[in-house]
Amino acid sequence: MRIPIPILLAGPVSPTRPRPCATYGDRMDTTTDTLVIGGGQAGLSVSYHLRRLGVEHLVLDGEDRIGDAWRRRWDSLELFTPRRYDGLDGMRMPGDPAGSPTKDEMAAYLEDYAARFDLPVRTGHRVTALRRDGDAFTAETASGTFRAQQVVVAMSNYQRPRIPGFAADLDAGIRQLHAYDYRNPAQLLPGRVLIVGAGNSGAEIANDIAAGHEVIVAGPSTGEIPGSYSGFFNQHVLVRVVNGLVFPHLMSVDTPMGRRARPRIMTHGVPLIRVKSRELARLGVVRAARVTGAEDGRPVVDGAPVDVANVIWCSGYDPGLDWIDLPILDDRGEPRHERGVVPEVPGLYFVGLHFLTSMASAMVHGVGRDASRIAALAAARSRQPVAA
Ligand SMILES: Cc1cc2nc3c(=O)[nH]c(=O)nc-3n(C[C@H](O)[C@H](O)[C@H](O)COP(=O)(O)OP(=O)(O)OC[C@H]3O[C@@H](n4cnc5c(N)ncnc54)[C@H](O)[C@@H]3O)c2cc1C
Repeated sequence: MRIPIPILLAGPVSPTRPRPCATYGDRMDTTTDTLVIGGGQAGLSVSYHLRRLGVEHLVLDGEDRIGDAWRRRWDSLELFTPRRYDGLDGMRMPGDPAGSPTKDEMAAYLEDYAARFDLPVRTGHRVTALRRDGDAFTAETASGTFRAQQVVVAMSNYQRPRIPGFAADLDAGIRQLHAYDYRNPAQLLPGRVLIVGAGNSGAEIANDIAAGHEVIVAGPSTGEIPGSYSGFFNQHVLVRVVNGLVFPHLMSVDTPMGRRARPRIMTHGVPLIRVKSRELARLGVVRAARVTGAEDGRPVVDGAPVDVANVIWCSGYDPGLDWIDLPILDDRGEPRHERGVVPEVPGLYFVGLHFLTSMASAMVHGVGRDASRIAALAAARSRQPVAA
């Protein structure tokens, strides 16, 4: 049986009012039409479009503050994309459009965005299980149960740090961190640092610590964008071609080129954007091909055990979506979907995943297009007549 939902027509924005239906001690059950799980840029984007369409909804986020996914990244991080590509639909990012915002600026922008459009975000609500219960979905959190006709899982598919099993065999005296937990060089022990993973995170973190440490970066090359990141050509031409044309339009599921490239892009790192191999060499960073295991508590780098004081794992992330208690995840934990729609589970959608529809889908300037399409599908579905 479908839960009757008031039909709201598109027009002036009205406050969303999820309905608390019962309380049990300090737990509360709440019913809403559309539940958005994740309150980062993907979730806020979906919420903005749902609100414009008049769909009653609620956004749940596990962190304490909107923007925390950005805030918790390392201190020196600046976005690769200039501000003109860092605004969501309806609000541009303030400041020099050609300049790169800091990660805290991005976090503050997201908080301001939610406040400006009065988006119904509840922080501190991590969903621990999502189930289908008859015609409705049930999302469990520590503070209560949320029931909804439709659910949009709105987040990038890199929620959980991935660390190889042999990390446990390294000597207990070696300080180990994943890029997810790295903030600044003060976290490291004096001595050599092994960075495992040679993508953008590995290169940027190597750049951050090279002044105070001997650094080895190990891992296959992911390639690099030609030219200097801060050079005139990159700043004024390449950045526009890549962000305005290549990522959203050419590298998309709508083009033969994009469809061909997608499987490789989904499993390989992005080419180096800002800190390239030449900069790393200039800083004295040593490159190695592979770390294959541990021997006598030491990491084995290109076949030989190496003495290091620290290991920083820039070895990627897993989707971290196994709280979704529905048979939709493949053997890598990635959800099966078609452009964000899950055919086997009507009413379940994804936004924010890497290459959902294009290379820009997980990026700030690309998420709005997917969010707007998925919000329109959710709006159309929520207006369908309720079965008797
Ligand atoms: C180091 C780094 C640099 C990047 N730089 C750029 C850049 O320069 N430009 C660009 O366009 N993109 C960049 N990106 C890519 C992308 O923009 C970011 O990853 C961005 O944070 C993705 O936003 P999101 O909302 O999709 O997911 P996230 O930011 O991951 O947000 C997801 C939210 O969902 C919440 N959540 C997760 N699971 C649950 C749950 N079970 N219940 C409730 N809440 C949950 C999390 O707490 C989080 O707040 C970068 C990514 C990284 C990792």
